[in-house]
Amino acid sequence: MKVHPNVIEQLKYPQRVIEFTIPLKMDDGTMRMIPAWRSQYNNALGPYKGGIRFHESVHKDEVMALSAWMAIKCAVVGIPMGGGKGGAQVNPRELSKKELERLARGYMRLLAPSISSDTDVPAPDVNTNAVIMGWMLDEYQKVAGKKDPAIITGKSIKDGGSEGREVATGFGGAVIVDQVAKHIMKKSPSKITVAIQGFGNVGSYIAQFLFEKGYRIVSLSDRHGAVAGKDPLNPFLIKKCVEEKGYVAGCYCVGDVCDYSEKYRISIEEQLESKVDILIPAALENQITEDNVRRVRAKVIVEMANGPIAPGAELVLLKRGVKIIPDVLANAGGVATSYFEWVQNKKKQHWQEKAVLRKLEWIMISAFQKVYSTARTRKTDFRSAAYALAAQRMAKKMKT
Ligand code: NAD
Repeated sequence: MKVHPNVIEQLKYPQRVIEFTIPLKMDDGTMRMIPAWRSQYNNALGPYKGGIRFHESVHKDEVMALSAWMAIKCAVVGIPMGGGKGGAQVNPRELSKKELERLARGYMRLLAPSISSDTDVPAPDVNTNAVIMGWMLDEYQKVAGKKDPAIITGKSIKDGGSEGREVATGFGGAVIVDQVAKHIMKKSPSKITVAIQGFGNVGSYIAQFLFEKGYRIVSLSDRHGAVAGKDPLNPFLIKKCVEEKGYVAGCYCVGDVCDYSEKYRISIEEQLESKVDILIPAALENQITEDNVRRVRAKVIVEMANGPIAPGAELVLLKRGVKIIPDVLANAGGVATSYFEWVQNKKKQHWQEKAVLRKLEWIMISAFQKVYSTARTRKTDFRSAAYALAAQRMAKKMKT
């Protein structure tokens, strides 16, 4: 892509990593010191953008790596945002609600002097959510002495969040699958079988959107196992099963009636290795590894989770001609809608869900087409094409 080596050199490092320690007062009056970071990777395209995670294994390197990934993701979908990520090294399940609130406020109090809604805009990530974003927003506004809801995204609607954010990642993924069907598989949805791993926010919504578009969903799963039967599955009905009983595995519906049966239950491994047109990992990282890759039989893999294919496994799949749609493209619907939230807050507007999803569809289609045409002209795989495109976009801006 003719990116200058000096730019590549700069893209190897975050521009800034802020390291701080949050004094967390516990309910029993003792004090715990919590290590925390915010990595501001690259802001060539716009304000740093990326989530804040609370997890006992978070560390500086992880936050730095994830912030690089965010820079690439924003550049691939062409939104004017850079890459950032934050984290605090703590297990939030060990905290009371009051302690969690003090942690969130403490994180923001220490970060506030280093961010603004024009320079760095955090969001939720692992173990953080709209309630926590609300506390952080409140704390920032106290420190800054002004109302500025655009400082953080992923807020609840009452705090200035965007319509459509809940379904956005799944919706964006379904738009990408449609592009895959049209341009790569050249088949209509009713002739395409799909297996989806994970039935949380991303997995359940992409399943519903694909079902509505007419795809044949042949298996679904969650952490307890999978369900597959002789007829395609209806994820709307299975969602009801999950609401009633708590898990997907073995829930099979005939007409509108669903029940659990061992006959329809398969293991997570069997699902990953089943013969399908499109496999959609939408649960965790590192699901396809060098250990199981030789048994994976899907023709196309659409990465809705972050990093579900280990690098060694990817080489094996590519050699076999399997098409991989990378996470930085497939699951970027979430960050694109976070960008819409930021725009709405900045303009003091509130858009209807239909308008949000229409704009999102346009962003996802144009990103796919750009990656697809780059892969074809450069004769490379889609991940390499997406990364090259992102580096080129950042390089152009860094030059100016
Ligand atoms: P979630 O916690 O809502 O759901 C995760 C689902 O995966 C659950 O159904 C869980 O039971 C299932 N699961 C866990 N282990 C499993 C296993 N071994 N096999 C099968 N299923 C398993 O999480 P989510 O928000 O849906 O995120 C899923 C993935 O998508 C993550 O990698 C996340 O980083 C990525 N992602 C999410 C968003 C978003 O907007 N939520 C955006 C971009 C990327």
